[in-house]
Amino acid sequence: MTTQNTLYSQLPATDRLLRHAQIIPIIAQFGHTRTVDTLRLLQDEARAHIRSQNGLPAWCDDWVREAEKRLTAGAPQGLRPVFNLTGTVLHTNLGRALLAEEAVEAVTQAMRAPVTLEYDLDGAGRGHRDRALAAMLCQLTGAEDACIVNNNAAAVLLMLAATANGKEVVVSRGELVEIGGAFRIPDVMTQAGCRLHEVGTTNRTHARDYQAAINENTALLMKVHTSNYQIEGFTHAVDEAELAQIGQAMNVPVIADLGSGSLVDLSQYGLPKEPMPQALIAAGVSLVSFSGDKLLGGPQAGIIVGKRDLIARLQQHPLKRALRADKMTLAALDATLRLYLHPETLAEKLPTLRLLSRDAAAIHTQGERLLEQVASHYPDFEVRVEACLSQPGSGSLPVDRLPGAALTFTPRDGRGSQLEALALRWRALSVPVLGRIKDGRLWLDLRCLEDEAQFLEVLLK
Ligand SMILES: *Cc1c(COP(=O)(O)O)cnc(C)c1O
Repeated sequence: MTTQNTLYSQLPATDRLLRHAQIIPIIAQFGHTRTVDTLRLLQDEARAHIRSQNGLPAWCDDWVREAEKRLTAGAPQGLRPVFNLTGTVLHTNLGRALLAEEAVEAVTQAMRAPVTLEYDLDGAGRGHRDRALAAMLCQLTGAEDACIVNNNAAAVLLMLAATANGKEVVVSRGELVEIGGAFRIPDVMTQAGCRLHEVGTTNRTHARDYQAAINENTALLMKVHTSNYQIEGFTHAVDEAELAQIGQAMNVPVIADLGSGSLVDLSQYGLPKEPMPQALIAAGVSLVSFSGDKLLGGPQAGIIVGKRDLIARLQQHPLKRALRADKMTLAALDATLRLYLHPETLAEKLPTLRLLSRDAAAIHTQGERLLEQVASHYPDFEVRVEACLSQPGSGSLPVDRLPGAALTFTPRDGRGSQLEALALRWRALSVPVLGRIKDGRLWLDLRCLEDEAQFLEVLLK
C-alpha cells in the first residue's frame, strides 16, 4: 500500500503539466480543452496502472510527449496534399484535375466577397445562375444554351429525368456502361423514371436497330461514350452524327453522355484525339453532357450543352435545384473556360493539358536531374531513371498510354517486402509521396511532378 501511495504521489499535477514549456505549442495546435482532457485521461490511465500493476506505465517518463502522441493519433486526418506520382494524371481518388491559378483566384474571390450569382446589375432579370457561363459555353461549343450541375452523373440523371420520365430511352447494348462508384446507365435510367430500351448486341449495333426500336413511347435516343473500355475486333457502332440523322428523320431527340469530352482538339498537343462536344452539337445532337474535372481541367461539375427548349426544361426541373453547382464551382469553371478563349496559352496555363502534353524527353531529363540526390538517400535500393507509360485517367482515353519517365527503386536484397515498407514510409511523409509498385520495383512517375524543390525537401528529410 505504501509503495502505491508513493507511486500516486509521483504523478504530476495537470496544472503543473500545463505550465510546461513544451506543452505550449501543443496547446496552440490542439486547443486548451482537448489538451486538458488528454492529460486527465493520462492521469486516469496511470492511476489504473498503479492499482493493477503496482507500477507506473512506461510513458510516465515523458507526459508531454505522450499527450502529443495521443492528440496527434486522434486528430482528424482531413484532406491532405500529396505528390501524385502514380502515373495517372486525372486520378479520381486524388481529386482529378488540378485547377489553373486563374481558377484558384476566382474561387478565392467568390469566397471572400459577395458575387452576382443570380443578380443582374442592369436589372434585366435574366434569372438563373448558369446564365453567364452558358454564354461562354455556347461560344465554345456552338450550342444554343447550357446547364451546369454538380457532376456529370448528375447531368445524365437530370437530362433523363427532365426529358424522358415515364418514357423509353433507346441505348445500344454495347454502351450500357458502369463508371466507377456505382454509376451504371441502366440504374440511372431507373432513378430518372425512364424505361431502358436496349438495342443491338454487345459488339455490334446498327442504324436499323435504333430505327426498329422507335415507337410512340420513345422519348430519346442516347449515346454513351465508352470512356473506360474499348471493344475490339468484329464490332460496329452507330456514331453520334448518324444517330442524329435517324433522330431528325423520326423526330426523336438524340442525347449523348460524353463523359470526359475535350473542348480542344488534343491531337495538336501530340495526344490521342477525344470526342469534342462541339462536333456533336454540329452533328445535330440535341443535348451533350460532360465532366468539368476530367479533360476540361476545371472543377467537379456536370456540363450540359444543347438545344434551347430542352435546356429550358432542365433548368425548370425540380432536380436542377437539388443538383445545381455552388458559387465556388461556377467561379472556377468560369475562369477555366476563359482560358479556352485564348488557345495559344492554354497548354501552359491549364495544368491538366500542361501535364498531359509533357514531352517524354523533358521528363527523362528531370529524372536525371533528381537521380543523384535521391539515390544517395536510399542506399538500400538501386535507384534508376526508367521509361514508363502514364495514363490520363478518369476514363479519358482509356487505352492510350503517354510515354514518360520514372524514378524506380529496386531493393538491393531482392526482398519484395521492402517495396511495401518504402511505400508505407512515403505515405507517412509530411506531404505523402504516392507511387506505384510494379515488376518488383517502386515507380515514381515524374509526369505530374512540377515542384521539384518541395519534393526533394520532403523526400530527403
Ligand atoms: C466520368 C463519366 C461519368 C461520370 O462523371 P462524373 O463527373 O464523375 O460524375 C458519366 N459518364 C461517363 C461516360 C463518364 O466517363
